[in-house]
Amino acid sequence: MHCPLCGTIDTGKVGTNQYYCWQCLMEFKTSDKQQDRMYYVEEDGSLIPVMLKPEL
Ligand SMILES: [Zn+2]
Repeated sequence: MHCPLCGTIDTGKVGTNQYYCWQCLMEFKTSDKQQDRMYYVEEDGSLIPVMLKPEL
C-alpha cells in the first residue's frame, strides 16, 4: 500500500484498511476508493485527523 501523502511504499498494515506510514509517521485509512484520511499519532496513541486537501 502506497502512502497517499508522500507516496512511499514503506508502510505497514495496522488494521482493517488501516496502515502506518514510516516516512510521515502517520496512520491512514483506505475505504472503497473514498478520500483517504491521514491521522497523526500522538505519543499517547490517540489519532488526530489531518486534512490533506480542502473538500470541494
Ligand atoms: Zn507517507
